[in-house]
Amino acid sequence: MKILKIVFFASILFIQSCTKDAATTTTTTDGSNSNTTSTTVPDVYKKIYGASSITSDGTTITIKTNGLPDHKSPYYASTNALYESFTGTTFAGSVFQKNPNSIAEKAYIFKIPINPKAASSLTATALGAMGVSLNGVPFYNQYAGPNQPLTGEIVSFDKYWGHPTPSSAYHYHVEPLYLTTVKATKSSLMGFLLDGFPVYGPEENGATVDNSKLDKYHGHTSTTTDYPNGIYHYHITSTDPYINGSGYYGTPGTVSQ
Ligand SMILES: [Zn+2]
Ligand SMILES: [Zn+2]
Repeated sequence: MKILKIVFFASILFIQSCTKDAATTTTTTDGSNSNTTSTTVPDVYKKIYGASSITSDGTTITIKTNGLPDHKSPYYASTNALYESFTGTTFAGSVFQKNPNSIAEKAYIFKIPINPKAASSLTATALGAMGVSLNGVPFYNQYAGPNQPLTGEIVSFDKYWGHPTPSSAYHYHVEPLYLTTVKATKSSLMGFLLDGFPVYGPEENGATVDNSKLDKYHGHTSTTTDYPNGIYHYHITSTDPYINGSGYYGTPGTVSQ
């Protein structure tokens, strides 16, 4: 049994050394090799299947996406294969009312820290993209405008609970239903916020997570499938503030959009 284990781990090491992209070693002025920086992209980021590229410089993960949802929406042009008309009930039992906007391709570049840390000072989330979901569509915060609640916008969420802005940027303020029900599960990793901390769906260990189980940033620390040693992570819940609470837990990276 012990030998089998050694063979198993040896083969893992072999596979890793074969697939490693590149590594840079920084030499300090006193001549010692102070640290080795790997530019291999950790597997967890590869779950962002909608990205056109994901790279690492060892401290920052750069994720590029076009922001187009990979699911049907009434906000696609009727000539698009992903167009589907929609009527009826959407998020929170609201009767769907289409907004006048439509979906267009974007060129997002998300730069997020590879080793996220709790911040010593608070950074509020801005309007616009505050994170990236598995299919490359951005996460937006709980506001429709500066300090304006989402209330009037919820009716325009499509059957997968996203909608486009007047500048045609499709986004999710709430649970991305296509990801939690079709591409992954309610307890899966859903993406990352700009501070590098992961976002999980609305369930954990078979139970629904509600806001009372989360801190003011809308997260908590525990082990997850992707992080068996434990990590701070956000959860998406069914009530306001939905994804993030009163700002980033860590120090945010950047997004160009
Ligand atoms: Zn919106
Ligand atoms: Zn959790």
